[in-house]
Amino acid sequence: MGKLYRAISADGSAFAAVLDAKDIVSEIEKLHKTSAVVTAGLGRLTIAASLMGYMLKGEDDSLTLRIDADGPAGQLVAVSDSRGNVKSTVANPVVELPLNDKGKLDVAGAVGRDGTLAVVKDMGLRDPYVGVIPLVSGEIAEDIANYYAISEQIPTVCALGVLVDTDLSVKSAGGFLVQLLPFADEKCIDIIEKNVAAMRPVSTLLDEGTTPEQIANMLLDGLEPNELDSASPVYRCDCSRERTEKVLISIGQKELRAIAEEGKDTEVKCHFCGKNYIFTPEEISRLAEGASEE
Ligand SMILES: [Zn+2]
Repeated sequence: MGKLYRAISADGSAFAAVLDAKDIVSEIEKLHKTSAVVTAGLGRLTIAASLMGYMLKGEDDSLTLRIDADGPAGQLVAVSDSRGNVKSTVANPVVELPLNDKGKLDVAGAVGRDGTLAVVKDMGLRDPYVGVIPLVSGEIAEDIANYYAISEQIPTVCALGVLVDTDLSVKSAGGFLVQLLPFADEKCIDIIEKNVAAMRPVSTLLDEGTTPEQIANMLLDGLEPNELDSASPVYRCDCSRERTEKVLISIGQKELRAIAEEGKDTEVKCHFCGKNYIFTPEEISRLAEGASEE
């Protein structure tokens, strides 16, 4: 279970959201059998999705982060509901790269530096909100902050970190978002910048046992932080046989008939949790009835 904690400054001009995501990222490593650098990359994207998804207002709202770039990991996708519960997937879970020049896992090398970050917010309207920006670093936290600056004009500090142990298990994982509301004054920005500059990496703090609450209070130190709320998000896939049928129907009648005629069972695997859904030729024929003729 993840631990998410949010604090707000006494004057209401700044808030900090901090997530301890060790359990969530451990689940990603177990499900997708990711190599260390991909655990870090997909982990960071998933932590960001949870923090951002938790900010959505409507109960049924969801948020998707998608990176399409030129790195060997291929496409990365993370989806969060409004409680911060997340699921994620990556095209190539196993990428091996040497450490970068800072001696860290080379996330930007795996993800790529040339590409885009898409933020999709489905808030139950006819069309979801979609914001797409070019990547600035491929290290993800900077890209998330840049998204807020460019697409939403919200000054944001973002940090995301995953420590992978030598046996590939997740030692610690987490991140934070600090955002300023439009009426925040210069003094407030200075204080937060100073607080962030004085902090050690978020994955190190969590590894040492610092709690999300303590980290939020460090981020807003000097601004009299108060608890806003807290949550316990988890890795959770919401796939179902019914949803899988809808996906199959969407490929069209002609295609489904052709599949049914092959006379073999069709296996559809969920990319987010690995669950297999099996359809007999008879079931595929039945789905074809309901599909459009295109
Ligand atoms: Zn699933």
